Amino acid sequence: MARIAVVTGGTRGIGGAISVALKDAGYAVAANYGGNDVAAQAFREETGIPTYKFDVADLAACEAGIKKITEDLGPVDVLVNNAGITRDVTLHRMTAEQWMEVMQTNLTSCFNMSRCVIESMRGRGFGRIINIGSINGQAGQLGQTNYSAAKCGMQGFTKALALEGAAKGITVNCIAPGYISTDMVRAVPAPVLEKIVARIPVGRLGEPEEVARAVVFLAADEAGFVTGSTLSINGGQHIY
Ligand code: NDP
Repeated sequence: MARIAVVTGGTRGIGGAISVALKDAGYAVAANYGGNDVAAQAFREETGIPTYKFDVADLAACEAGIKKITEDLGPVDVLVNNAGITRDVTLHRMTAEQWMEVMQTNLTSCFNMSRCVIESMRGRGFGRIINIGSINGQAGQLGQTNYSAAKCGMQGFTKALALEGAAKGITVNCIAPGYISTDMVRAVPAPVLEKIVARIPVGRLGEPEEVARAVVFLAADEAGFVTGSTLSINGGQHIY
């Protein structure tokens, strides 16, 4: 029987590449998304991967979403917390809404989704939780106190949950991508993006497939000794 994988924000960008890579590796994949029905439909038609629309920032919506996925495919073996947003603005102009929206979609979503699958994973003695953080959670970034805090928080969440899951066959890891060629990065103004690329030793943006490859590695049954770690995939931009 194929293992079941859920990828939040799994219909576009990095998440879309993760969904496809996991499917290619033999997983039965459920791709969640938040609101872009057009992109989700195109993804579904192109890949054959079923899509599930619910807001990862809303615990009740996650519970309903996981219930439906479990009915359709089976209990979740692999959870990839990938959905994320930015609301960039310097702190002296940031509204409470911009702070909360980013915290809830990027960080609280990890609680929501993990909470919905963790008891079943513990009961079955197997689980893989992979959280997609960011270089900006490691290094900080101007205009991103909300995003950097949320992404750094994901690393702490990863470490604590890794300790809780270790004796139950559940690994929890984080991937911290650098700048990857997706809609999120294409939204950055061109002059700013040029400066960013100039600071990447590899000399280019990363590709979503380069992140997806690491997810497949961490999701594997054979990766059971890798837990609590953060894997940086950033072209050498931030090494520590
Ligand atoms: P995109 O903006 O291309 O895609 C984001 C995905 O998340 C979409 O599928 C979107 O759904 C989904 N999503 C957003 N909000 C919600 C929500 N409330 N509920 C459910 N789904 C939601 O992002 P990227 O592919 O660029 O980024 C993916 C992850 O990687 C994010 O966590 C991001 O922070 C992180 N990251 C990205 C980097 C980059 O350079 N691109 C660098 C470092 C980290 P919909 O299509 O419906 O809008």
